[in-house]
Amino acid sequence: MALNPLLDSRDQRFVLFEALEADKLNRYERFADFDRDTYEATLDLAEQIAVEQVYPANAQADKTGAIYDPAAKTVKVPEGFHAAMKSYREAGFSGLSNSPEFGGTGMPETVYRAAMEYFCAAGVAFSSYDTLKVGACNLIIHHGSEELKKIYVEKMVAGQWGGTMCLTEPSAGSDVGALKTRAVRQADGTYKITGQKIFITAGDNDLYENIIHPVLARIDGDPPGTPGISIFIVPKFHVNPDGTSGKRNDVATTGIEHKMGIKGSATCSLSFGDNDQCVGWLLGQERQGMKIMFQMMNEARLDVSQQGLGTASSAYMHAVTYAKNRLQGQDPAKKGDFTSVPIIRHPDVKRMLIWMKAQVEAMRMLTLLAAYSADMANVEKGTPEGREAQGLLDFLIPLCKAGNTDLAWLVTSEAMQVFGGYGYCSEYPIEQLARDCKILAIYEGTNGIQSMDLTMRKLLMNPDMFNFKVFKKRIALSCEKAGGIVEDKYIAAMKNAVDAMDATVAKLTEWRDRKRILDILAVAQPLQQAMRMVAHAWMHLWSMTVAIPKLKAIAGDIKGEKAASLAKDNAEAAFYMGKVLSGQFYLGAELKHLTGYLDYVTAGEPAAVNECFENIFTGALPQ
Ligand SMILES: Cc1cc2nc3c(=O)[nH]c(=O)nc-3n(C[C@H](O)[C@H](O)[C@H](O)COP(=O)(O)OP(=O)(O)OC[C@H]3O[C@@H](n4cnc5c(N)ncnc54)[C@H](O)[C@@H]3O)c2cc1C
Repeated sequence: MALNPLLDSRDQRFVLFEALEADKLNRYERFADFDRDTYEATLDLAEQIAVEQVYPANAQADKTGAIYDPAAKTVKVPEGFHAAMKSYREAGFSGLSNSPEFGGTGMPETVYRAAMEYFCAAGVAFSSYDTLKVGACNLIIHHGSEELKKIYVEKMVAGQWGGTMCLTEPSAGSDVGALKTRAVRQADGTYKITGQKIFITAGDNDLYENIIHPVLARIDGDPPGTPGISIFIVPKFHVNPDGTSGKRNDVATTGIEHKMGIKGSATCSLSFGDNDQCVGWLLGQERQGMKIMFQMMNEARLDVSQQGLGTASSAYMHAVTYAKNRLQGQDPAKKGDFTSVPIIRHPDVKRMLIWMKAQVEAMRMLTLLAAYSADMANVEKGTPEGREAQGLLDFLIPLCKAGNTDLAWLVTSEAMQVFGGYGYCSEYPIEQLARDCKILAIYEGTNGIQSMDLTMRKLLMNPDMFNFKVFKKRIALSCEKAGGIVEDKYIAAMKNAVDAMDATVAKLTEWRDRKRILDILAVAQPLQQAMRMVAHAWMHLWSMTVAIPKLKAIAGDIKGEKAASLAKDNAEAAFYMGKVLSGQFYLGAELKHLTGYLDYVTAGEPAAVNECFENIFTGALPQ
């Protein structure tokens, strides 16, 4: 197989099998057929398809983009995506985590998400098509009638039919409740749908025989806002009694967006019911649309987290390769020697590389921990362990979505810095990664919305702050386990971070009780960033606790010269040494920023919420 320039598979395996011990999920009957070997083989295959097919197709897709045919009102995806999707489908990735009852493989969510990490790193645009389909299919599995399940699920699991999520409209972006799409009950139990949806990823494409749209709409007469929203399944093609795709439903693709990045992803405008013939089938109960759609949104938020992680990982890996090969400047440790050295010798470049490494590793572990929590919430449903897993998952979703995608932008920017001027040029991959990842902080709920979700729903309005308590309990457990293994100063840094966060949350609780809601909302974003830092510090402490004994077993004293020289020739020693250095860097240096973020949150500086705020921008155009 080609060398993998995208993702450190060794680190992924460390997280999966040494930290999370995900292979032990086979103690549950649902996963009893699998073991570490099956998982490794699956991940190796994902790596192979991602590196050999998706990655080259992704670069080509950036040039050609998805193409809209206005006459046929259809969209063609970039050529290379077809072959890549064929391999992806045939290898079973389409239904990897779906139950065998529907034709899936039934693997844990954790392993599915680890496999997806390869596809996201190889190309965000490619990854969008099938991840949305999985989300749409899971909606039907969990909320569809037996009839809907029978019609759609197997074909979607097999990857024959695609799926989307249709929320956004011109006047309903972040505020989904403002939507105008209508549904009218029909005598046969179906609904007629009319309205416009915009920005619909994979809304039309030629990768799938049929496309199944979950559409949010309001039934005539239902109340305004989110409580009045229902959700409908609207297929592009009607389905014949024999299960094949039949005549077209009244859904027209009216155009695609021309974007800064992810050009291979078809971002479509869809018009429902131009001829008053668009038929939709209710999913779940009337007026339960938002509640049901939240299931897909939570899954999609993890998908986007992985797109952030994948892009950051790819940018970081490319930067390391470049830094090892680009000769520039002299060795700062050898005065008078004018031989050019690889830029990786320069302390400032080392700093950039270890910063990226520490961010990417923490993102990976937190995202896989979220996926593992989803598995545990499922297999332990109804038990205290299951409730804790769900609480942790709920807390981690906005942290992973906003954290990974904010960091993806910063990591690609830092990677470009490592490349110097070449990074800014399109012959090198970094500028595409930077363009591709910016959208991640915007779609699937902007990061501003994620921060408010974390601050309000998951923290201050969460009954008894259960989610936050689980989060802290798990960190405390990790601190205990780290005792006697990790140097005390790093454990102390972790404990101090939690104490500081606790004090901040106490202050925000006071604000909440005094109804200072605007002040809270104005600092939701820095609070989210601070919470992400605490979470990442936790991941590093946990990693060090696992890595240090393994490194010692290979190298003896990890401080000694022996460890350094072993790391040169022994890949395992180098890997564990790398984990320890990432952790030391994060807990010993990066985490120092936490104080600044928390001071910002609690300062209560009212400038941004001053009453005359909207009138101070004197140079700006009038409203
Ligand atoms: C490439 C692409 C793909 C997409 N794919 C899909 C898809 O598949 N399905 C789909 O339904 N949608 C999709 N979207 C839409 C996307 O989810 C929305 O763009 C996003 O939710 C933001 O909505 P908006 O663009 O209208 O921005 P606005 O809602 O107008 O937001 C603008 C700014 O105001 C802030 N803001 C808005 N309201 C509030 C508030 N109450 N409190 C604080 N800040 C606020 C936002 O955080 C943001 O910074 C896609 C968009 C793009 C560009």
